[in-house]
Amino acid sequence: MTEDELIQTFFTSDVTDPYVILGVGDDAAILQVPDAHQLITSVDTLLEGVHFPSNFDPELLASRCLGVTLSDLAAMGATPKWITLSLSLPEVDTAWLQIFSRALKRECQAYAVQLVGGDTVKGPLALSLTVMGIVASGQALRRDQANVGDQLYVSGCLGGAMFALECLQNNLDCNQELLQHYTAPQARVLLGQKLLGHANSCMDISDGLLLDASRLARTSKVGIQIAMEKLPLHPALAALDLDKRLKLACAGDDYELLFSAPDTEAEFLKGLSQRLGLPISCIGEITAGEGVTTTLYDQPYQQSDTGYQHFR
Ligand code: ADP
Ligand code: MG
Repeated sequence: MTEDELIQTFFTSDVTDPYVILGVGDDAAILQVPDAHQLITSVDTLLEGVHFPSNFDPELLASRCLGVTLSDLAAMGATPKWITLSLSLPEVDTAWLQIFSRALKRECQAYAVQLVGGDTVKGPLALSLTVMGIVASGQALRRDQANVGDQLYVSGCLGGAMFALECLQNNLDCNQELLQHYTAPQARVLLGQKLLGHANSCMDISDGLLLDASRLARTSKVGIQIAMEKLPLHPALAALDLDKRLKLACAGDDYELLFSAPDTEAEFLKGLSQRLGLPISCIGEITAGEGVTTTLYDQPYQQSDTGYQHFR
């Protein structure tokens, strides 16, 4: 199968979005940004053995890579619209491509995004996904706008993804719901959109709660105080001791949103949480000063592992 046939067979689909003037097939895609909107774009690269285990199910790879990359758009409050996929493959494995591309199409439909281009090369298995979305001009949620006095919130529950990864890596049994936190993280797109005009700052917590919170603090030039007993620990981990659960909760890969909002938004957030059927937990506050301070039941709390970093 030639490269052109491969693209034609697996990565071409009917374009239904009127804002896609030209999709897969030309040298580049032509996209129309609606009036009074800004284009929000981000790219993520997933390497076999680093961002997903070797011989990972191609079906799960598709859902994981889309969830992970769209999470960045969710964190900006953007509406996802288009993606491009750069795919490095060791060989043309049509069975693998069949499963992967079907799952990718299904996931694209679920998130209402269109694949509008990409690149296909021979090499170690790796994916690079560029995601593009739109937001009303000037409205995007940023991580540099937290205000002293804001409450700090996190969505969903924490620790499930890293627990699932540990199970996968050690061939241990893991319940299906927990496993999905790693294999099919849900980008919190709707939540991000609903936070527009309500949250002062927002980011996703891909690399771990405390590491990402320290980035929010640094970028906003504020301090952050987190009460660890308020973390929404995944209920399925209740049998583990608290220290282990807190470590898992800060180890990364949960792809929830971390955001700050003034006190006056507390009621709105309570209602929003109910409407979305998604927990939104207040875990601390924005303070004057710098860095992240953590306590556990009012006692200082220190964690040795500080999240995922490629370069130390
Ligand atoms: P060029 O050599 O001009 O870069 P390519 O052969 O790489 O063109 O790609 C041809 C067309 O197919 C382009 O429109 C490109 O965006 C698209 N394409 C290539 N690989 C993929 C892929 N993995 N997914 C989606 N579109 C792809
Ligand atoms: Mg190319």
